[in-house]
Amino acid sequence: MRIRGFCCGWLEMDRAGLISGDEGTMRIPIPAYLIEHAGLTILFDAGLPPELRDSDSERAREIAPFFGCDLPPGTNLVERLRSCGIEPGDVDMVVLSHMHFDHVGGSSLVLDAELVVQRAEWEAAVADVAGDQYMRADVDVERPRRLLDGEWDIFGDGRVVVTVTVGHTAGHQSLRIITDDPRELILCGDACYLRRSLDTRSLPTSSFDASAQLAGLEWLDERERSGARLVFGHDPSQWPMDLADDRVIELTSIHADG
Ligand SMILES: [Zn+2]
Repeated sequence: MRIRGFCCGWLEMDRAGLISGDEGTMRIPIPAYLIEHAGLTILFDAGLPPELRDSDSERAREIAPFFGCDLPPGTNLVERLRSCGIEPGDVDMVVLSHMHFDHVGGSSLVLDAELVVQRAEWEAAVADVAGDQYMRADVDVERPRRLLDGEWDIFGDGRVVVTVTVGHTAGHQSLRIITDDPRELILCGDACYLRRSLDTRSLPTSSFDASAQLAGLEWLDERERSGARLVFGHDPSQWPMDLADDRVIELTSIHADG
């Protein structure tokens, strides 16, 4: 099994949007993950929508009041995949932690891949016609998709398991992987933004279900104490933060200390 991660752009945002009560702004990485196992090529999350590179695009103007956006050449999903020797048509499946634009946006570049989303998340995104939480452009009802009602062991060998971590959104999910070492690796998604979120049990100003998200942090903490490595949703200490830095990280070597 090979697992690689890369930043599909960076956002500048209010710190309170990451941890309630914090002040100022923070530049955060927007990671996506490439997993190759047993003949399948899977993505976990897809990074920013490619249109955000053009600051005059409709989508860029939509997010501009809330986020500063950097998606330099070389960093959108397809460019990242090609730097890994993968063509967009090679991707079999995109497992989405949830359907916020910074996770689903790049999936428009791998249109043949099946989306894997919790049914509750898909339905929440479809129902949000006002676009309060989800961007309309990201809800493609024509898209091939597999809607899950809970856990899913993708290969049936226990190596890559989709696990429900509701709280941040209505149907958030994380990915539990057993690497070749063998060791447990959890791609948290936005179940946990930062190392500090876990250590201080801190939530952002708003979440779909705060008590469920706190329960998710308890679970992640318990897994880490049992030896799991955690990769947080947007922790700058785990990713290259330089715009010119085009590193792809082999996830088995990632710094889990934050
Ligand atoms: Zn996010």
